[in-house]
Amino acid sequence: MRVWGEQGQSRRRWRLRGLLVATLGLTLAPGVWAQRSNLKPPWNTYSPQRDVQLGKESAQVLAKRLPLCNDPKVDAYLTKLGLRLVSKMPTRGVKYPWEFHCVNDKEINAFALPGGYVFVNRGAIEAADNEAQLAAVMAHELSHVVLRHGTAQASKAQLMQGAAGIFGQIFGGSTSGALLSQGVALGAGGLLLRYSRSDETQADVLGTQTLYDVGYDPRAMAQFFEKLQAETKGKNPPQFLSDHPNPGNRVARVNEEIDKLGGVPPNAKRDSPEFEAIKREVMSLPVVKTPPASVGSAPPPPPSGNFVDYQGNGVALKVPENWKRYEDNGSVTFAPDGGISQKGGLAYGIIVSVNQVQDDGSEQALENATRALIRELAKTNPGLKMAREPARVDLNGQPGLSTYLSNESSTGTEETDWLVTVLQPQGLVSFLCVAPKAAFPEYEKTFTTVLNSVRFQR
Ligand SMILES: [Zn+2]
Repeated sequence: MRVWGEQGQSRRRWRLRGLLVATLGLTLAPGVWAQRSNLKPPWNTYSPQRDVQLGKESAQVLAKRLPLCNDPKVDAYLTKLGLRLVSKMPTRGVKYPWEFHCVNDKEINAFALPGGYVFVNRGAIEAADNEAQLAAVMAHELSHVVLRHGTAQASKAQLMQGAAGIFGQIFGGSTSGALLSQGVALGAGGLLLRYSRSDETQADVLGTQTLYDVGYDPRAMAQFFEKLQAETKGKNPPQFLSDHPNPGNRVARVNEEIDKLGGVPPNAKRDSPEFEAIKREVMSLPVVKTPPASVGSAPPPPPSGNFVDYQGNGVALKVPENWKRYEDNGSVTFAPDGGISQKGGLAYGIIVSVNQVQDDGSEQALENATRALIRELAKTNPGLKMAREPARVDLNGQPGLSTYLSNESSTGTEETDWLVTVLQPQGLVSFLCVAPKAAFPEYEKTFTTVLNSVRFQR
């Protein structure tokens, strides 16, 4: 179950450019610089410091879970290349910590967490024909970081869920949780990596400008994407293409930007002996069998029969003592170790969230709000289906609705989602109990105990 609705300086650059043009005015055709596209980062409720904090927490988790190449030569090469690219990128005065890691995974993929934690699969290095193409993949990722597209998507998701700030009212302001579900979702191809089409175009355009500014052949951006597309005709596209879908006119837009920049420079760099050496080095690394991008093959340990109290600001409940708590701004998730997939989906556990709703006091208000919530969940869970229509239940004296849904589990099988909803002054409080269908009967008793323990406080 995925809950997440799914990452000035340019002005300073302008001024710098203006200065350059003024100094070298006679040698540069006037107006060439002025044509480059000016990219505005999308609306974002997070601070850049929050980007760094979120990215750091997720990077620590991922560094433990992902099979890293552990080859200092390769990491040093990626770092050098990456830093060369970011030196030409508009960072708006934010000091990003920039970390670059090689991942021992043959899948053609690379991703960057907010705040500048970059993971490049060996598959991406092996698939690149030359250094310019690898630089293109990295420049595209780094553009998502400096334009802060990850948290911009998160901002939009919160707005849609009406959850921003609401969480604080019911569960208190504790944000000390590891933010794991959100963090990992951001990191490993989860929902938040589904950038919008305009995010993709911005990353292509800024990436192209960066390649140009560093001296690489800027056509490498379109070439690499075209290569991936061509290689996968009729097959599953590599993860990189599904995480960075073609906004529709990718190649044309990149070429347009190259024209705006004044064309491909005659001495543009395509390759280097260093890249070829690193590619050989990477190809000789032992192949690590990567675990499927899902919950570990072994199911998580069964829920403990001992329950511990969880006290929020407006609600109290009991959860198995071997479940961990993961909080973010919109919800709190209780899950056993191994209950959250690498992609950030919950496979075993309970998500408690509060959604702002219009409570008109009518008989239908709870049902309408519940159906609206299910429609919202279906947006990020395409396989979600109603298994049993909403039925009235009593949750410790509060009228509630119980709805059973079926969904595709992060484990690759079918999952059962038991949704219990109650209207409270804070909004629609929902308890979403998630387990693979086959394991659901074992978990049902635990879910029932948790729900029976719920107490609302006013
Ligand atoms: Zn992208």
